[in-house]
Amino acid sequence: MQYRVLLYYKYVTIDDPESFKEEHLAYCKELGLIGRILVAREGINGTVSGTIEQTQKYMDDMKNDSRFADTVFKIETSETHAFKKMKVRVRPELVHLSLEDDVNPNETTGKHLSPKEWLVAMEQEDVVILDARNTYEYDLGHFKNAIRPDVETFRELPQWVRENFSQFKDKKVLTYCTGGIRCEKFSGFLLKEGFKDVSQLEGGIISYGHDEEAKGKLWDGKCYVFDERISVPVNRSGEETVVGRCYHCGNPEERYVKCGNPECNAHLLMCEDCEKEHKRSCSKECLEHPWNRYIKEQERESSPN
Ligand SMILES: [Zn+2]
Ligand SMILES: [Zn+2]
Repeated sequence: MQYRVLLYYKYVTIDDPESFKEEHLAYCKELGLIGRILVAREGINGTVSGTIEQTQKYMDDMKNDSRFADTVFKIETSETHAFKKMKVRVRPELVHLSLEDDVNPNETTGKHLSPKEWLVAMEQEDVVILDARNTYEYDLGHFKNAIRPDVETFRELPQWVRENFSQFKDKKVLTYCTGGIRCEKFSGFLLKEGFKDVSQLEGGIISYGHDEEAKGKLWDGKCYVFDERISVPVNRSGEETVVGRCYHCGNPEERYVKCGNPECNAHLLMCEDCEKEHKRSCSKECLEHPWNRYIKEQERESSPN
């Protein structure tokens, strides 16, 4: 069975997110979609999967709503659904930067570069490429020469920029994220911070990987995605590489696990041998944690019942 996965977002005012959520959830369920949608006063952000007919109907219906008429849907094909359930949640913001003064991307945001323009820009001298994602996303794959902010969550990024990146205020800064939604706000934040020339990759890494001209060039590794697929390929130029490395042994690895300690939950690239040896843990503390999930799984498997 062939499925399609839709990724999309739209920054537009939704006056009553709670009632929108109820209606939208009922509608998605009736349509038979599966996925995760966030709704906020500032807009909508979703990843949904379904058959070609279901996803087409969804896009058509969304575009008939004036608020979402120009929403860009990134369409991927998949052998399976990308989620188990249909969920719609209300959040105070679509993406959270932890700012005193949140950024409205409809007022302040960086220049949008198409995949083709992005590729040209990356090859210019004197540009600084800044990954706007978290370390565990960067470590599986990223643009060549991109700077890796040392952050576990998006809300840590402004602080990181203030402490580690302010020397680049006069440079041409190129920033990117998975589907573009984080950069809409983040590039606006950079402008407000006094960065003079800020551009963002329109549609993010996903659109870049699909673009017929860019073909994912200058991307190393895979792209981390927030659904059950965990990662998707990007570079289709014949120069694919593996940049992921096992957290413990350092061998090339693209397999993600969550640290066995449920109180840690760190995202780790880890080979099967090291998973066994380190009980899927990032540290001695996590290995010895009384709730270690890996140890519990092993006990369950070996118990005779
Ligand atoms: Zn290993
Ligand atoms: Zn851990």
